[in-house]
Amino acid sequence: MTAVTAPALVVVGSINLDLVVRCAALPRPGQTVTGDDLAEHGGGKGANQAVAAARLGARTTLIGRVGGDGAGQRLRAGLASEGVAVPDDLVSAEASSGTAIIAVERGGENHILLVPGANALLTPADVERHAARIRSARVLLLQLEIPTATVIAAARIAQAAGVKVLLDPAPAPTHFDPALYHVDLLSPNRSEAEALVGRALPTITDVAEAGRELMARGAGAVVITLGADGAMLCADGKTLHLPTFPVHAVDATAAGDAFKAALALRWAEGASLEDAVRFALAAGALAASRPGAQPSLPRRSEVDALLATHIASALTPT
Ligand code: ADP
Repeated sequence: MTAVTAPALVVVGSINLDLVVRCAALPRPGQTVTGDDLAEHGGGKGANQAVAAARLGARTTLIGRVGGDGAGQRLRAGLASEGVAVPDDLVSAEASSGTAIIAVERGGENHILLVPGANALLTPADVERHAARIRSARVLLLQLEIPTATVIAAARIAQAAGVKVLLDPAPAPTHFDPALYHVDLLSPNRSEAEALVGRALPTITDVAEAGRELMARGAGAVVITLGADGAMLCADGKTLHLPTFPVHAVDATAAGDAFKAALALRWAEGASLEDAVRFALAAGALAASRPGAQPSLPRRSEVDALLATHIASALTPT
């Protein structure tokens, strides 16, 4: 099951520092609460997916900006240690690095303050400068934590060169530019799919209908992730609900990022979308079975081992 040659994958997306404070109770407006401890992690959907892809065996480049601060240096060093290539010219001296300040209550509730910082400064000109890297990739992987114009510019460069584009439309935007539907593969989670179609999707039949609707809007294929319920694949006029792998789920943080990176990687390796979704379900399940974001992202050997020990059976097409 291991790839003969590692495919090249390019991610254009966000790089964040996650500052996590655990506390007994979240502060109310005007209140000061003493936290238990402070932890610092690499984060951002772009960086998480790039690290996930590298651990799964892709030759991965991340086109993303950090600030000219110490955090930016640490984030770039962390990505390099994972084998993710980040071009040298993407440091904004005048900006802070993207930062998420996350307060987590012992019960699990959280507050997140997200400062986009340098992520907001990633421009279409940046991706144009690195167009050759995008053109030489097998798959371009995109999310929405950077300016929409930059996402669209990257997708256009890839598509003009015949490079497949996978868009994870997260976080769900209040305004979704219709140009974003025109990608080879659109992969929202259930709540993002609900935001895109503008209605709740309580049943699997509703999810399948939403997938078809997103294809009618321009997506070449659609994969909607459903947490513990697996994923819905819509492609070639068919819909297929695939179950996930039974794991003891402890923390679903970054499960979606592991899923998207794994989907991109197997698709880049030439697998069918159905096989790529199965592989991605295994990667997502492994990430959900461990605490944390980047530390929970699985390696290739672990995903292959989980696939080998379970025969995932497809449910009846809806
Ligand atoms: P997101 O993390 O973006 O909200 P989902 O919750 O849909 O996305 O999870 C993405 C993928 O992670 C799922 O399709 C599945 O493969 C895996 N996953 C998430 N939660 C669980 C779980 N409780 N058990 C097994 N797999 C899970």
